[in-house]
Amino acid sequence: MRYISTRGKAPALSFEEVVLTGLASDGGLYVPETLPRFSADELSAMAGLSYAEIAFRVMRPFVNGEIDDATFKSLVTDAYATFSHDAVVPLKQLDANHFLLEQFHGPTLAFKDVALQLLGRLLDHFLKKRGERAVIMGATSGDTGSAAIEGCRHCDNLDIFILHPHNRVSEVQRRQMTTVLADNVFNVAIEGNFDDAQAMVKASFADQGFLNGTRLVAVNSINWARIMAQIVYYVAAGVALGAPKREVSFCVPSANFGNVFAGYMAYKMGLPVKQFIIATNANDILHRTLADNDFSKKELEATLAPSMDIVVSSNFERLLFDAYERDGAAVAALLERFQREPTAMAEAPLAKLREKFASFSVDDATILEVIREAHRRTGEILDPHTATGYRAAERVRADQATPMVTLATAHPAKFAEAVVKAGFQGVPLPTHMDDLLDREERYAVLPAELAAVQRFVADNRR
Ligand SMILES: *Cc1c(COP(=O)(O)O)cnc(C)c1O
Repeated sequence: MRYISTRGKAPALSFEEVVLTGLASDGGLYVPETLPRFSADELSAMAGLSYAEIAFRVMRPFVNGEIDDATFKSLVTDAYATFSHDAVVPLKQLDANHFLLEQFHGPTLAFKDVALQLLGRLLDHFLKKRGERAVIMGATSGDTGSAAIEGCRHCDNLDIFILHPHNRVSEVQRRQMTTVLADNVFNVAIEGNFDDAQAMVKASFADQGFLNGTRLVAVNSINWARIMAQIVYYVAAGVALGAPKREVSFCVPSANFGNVFAGYMAYKMGLPVKQFIIATNANDILHRTLADNDFSKKELEATLAPSMDIVVSSNFERLLFDAYERDGAAVAALLERFQREPTAMAEAPLAKLREKFASFSVDDATILEVIREAHRRTGEILDPHTATGYRAAERVRADQATPMVTLATAHPAKFAEAVVKAGFQGVPLPTHMDDLLDREERYAVLPAELAAVQRFVADNRR
């Protein structure tokens, strides 16, 4: 299997190359040239297997023999052994036919752990094989940095540098990053805001001279391996609820579109899915595009569901490539127009998307209302991201007969602000994290100057 760019001009890559590469050289994102397809028998045979075994079977075709089976199986098994629930991503029934898929049992209590625990191990495997080392740089407004750090802390051939805005992330978020004291983990508090931190990371990728030839790797959600790892829980949830004999629907709290796109891949690989619902917060570009064909940027709004605060939804490009019948030139033209001015999709590809996808946007006041309402009805305290999904599933689901699975993307203890605003006393951290506020921290504080940051990285990488 080869991987090709959504804009049609970059060279095709192997799995190993695509794991080590972020953006394609033509500005596009990599997708598989062909998708594996599971027969009904193959899907039926997955029911009842362990999560790691399902993960191995679902991802094996994408790896394309570039890692031998025994090694790949052990990477997968190690990655999911870090989760505190034996089912890794368990289903919980809320009412007659509505389920939560709990994605928050990983080391940092949110769904990004599912992909990043595997991605770190894949990167380390390929780097070791090549006898290379690499540096990871990333900027975080609080939440995703910790998942990347946890995914890389045991990697011998990787050093990770995560920049966060000094004094502008919550104490829990900061400590989830800064209490990881591994030798290859470097947290940098930038005396500036998130945009300053992100701009310095972007500039470092654009001109990597300061690393004297060492590879710089991005672990953001455009990396194909993250999508691949996320396909697994759709298949696992689907077969647990009766697929392939029975259709299932999914409702996904969405921002960069990586999570729900992985669900769409599972569908294209043979999982019978009736409907995907895209839930957004007030940053609703996905909902505006799907509902009104308004494909335009809007100013960023800080919401109670901060991990979904985005202006542009980067992985949507992968769905566009599919909707435009893999016409890379058409995708490139649309996205170029989108960067300049408000635009719209062509009618035919939009109509195709609307056959499978519905969408709904949920504002902050409604998030609080939903947290209270869901608790009254089900006894569950939802985190604010999951709350957007709960409401969207209720409002736009196609039918009641098909099981609806809402993805619970974060643990409520991680987003205490919203939970407290909704009138609750807060939710305790899980026991394996209850000493987080007493653990030793380590981080550097640097001015928002590119030269200072790059010197720090060059001096500290191993
Ligand atoms: C990242 C994140 C999302 C959004 O996922 P995308 O793949 O960007 O659509 C939703 N909820 C939480 C808690 C997240 O961390």
